Amino acid sequence: MNEVPKPVEEELVSCEVCLKEIPLSESKSTEAVDYVVHFCGLQCHSKWKEQQSKPDA
Ligand SMILES: [Zn+2]
Repeated sequence: MNEVPKPVEEELVSCEVCLKEIPLSESKSTEAVDYVVHFCGLQCHSKWKEQQSKPDA
């Protein structure tokens, strides 16, 4: 038998920057203009912030 313990089925979200799937509770999220974006960590969060402030080249 190969039973994997699965206590709670947690909602997964994708990191806005690296597209990694992370549990909602472990994600960092930020409210963008009219939606919420999720990040796997602070590194991706600041990366995204940088991209937001970049002028459209
Ligand atoms: Zn990420």
